[in-house]
Amino acid sequence: MSDLPPPRKRFGQHFLRDANLLRRIVAAADITRHDLVLEIGPGRGALTELLLEKAAAVVAFELDRDLAKWLEERFADARWRLYTGDVLDADLTSCLAETRALFGLPAAPVKVVANLPYNVSTPIVEKLLASQSALTDIVVMLQREVGWRLAAAPGTREYGYFSVIVQAHCDVERLFDVPPGAFHPPPKVMSSVVRLKPRVPSLLPPDLEAMFRRVVSLAFEQRRKMLGGSLLRLGLERSRLLAALAEAAIAPECRPEALSVEAFIRLARALACHGG
Ligand code: SAM
Repeated sequence: MSDLPPPRKRFGQHFLRDANLLRRIVAAADITRHDLVLEIGPGRGALTELLLEKAAAVVAFELDRDLAKWLEERFADARWRLYTGDVLDADLTSCLAETRALFGLPAAPVKVVANLPYNVSTPIVEKLLASQSALTDIVVMLQREVGWRLAAAPGTREYGYFSVIVQAHCDVERLFDVPPGAFHPPPKVMSSVVRLKPRVPSLLPPDLEAMFRRVVSLAFEQRRKMLGGSLLRLGLERSRLLAALAEAAIAPECRPEALSVEAFIRLARALACHGG
């Protein structure tokens, strides 16, 4: 067996070593013998081992080549497929299809269970959203503040671009917090486990996605400004913008943090109709 490489900071390596917490994370995904599970960053395989006990098979992505080599040896006979490299560069659809073919699994939605590298947790969640229709449950550990943002309700300080985008596609539930001492080496921050359940169908029709993102992004870039002002940067005539706001039943004086996800979707739809 190769030597176990030391934890590498640049890969965001903090290995969870609390057996009880590992079990709680796996339990939150309610894995059955029929499930294909996607794990991002298996690290030293603490979570992987439990996932392999429950799932039909596991597909994993590990960026650290040395660790990947070590893992290949550790789980040499397991029902899993490990891809070495950056998950952000991966074609998830074909990797999932390849793994299904390897283990003779039917094309069914996949569960994601991962203790994410915190430096790239936001782009990873964005990537998972893009594959939303292929996923049923996403149970991830990330920095506690990111967890707050994902689950934030309108009117709170944490509510922003990321909250609105994610909640348009998923129901978000914060499950529990994890202190630094549960990891080796301990991170400087608290962590949270959250569950995202992709909405079927999504609240947001695919043809509105681009407009929706533009509106939410412009609105929160100047979160203290009134929407009637910040959305002028869409380049629409003022009268058209006001007509769209009226159609969406939103006052131009409204500030973005007061708007629900549904209201942002109404607004994107009205703006699309008014040529935004
Ligand atoms: N799952 C392990 C655990 O719970 O103990 C390790 C979690 S550790 C926080 C994050 C893992 O993700 C590390 O093994 C790291 O090497 C890996 N990683 C970091 N960036 C990655 C990326 N872009 N793609 C795939 N894996 C990545």
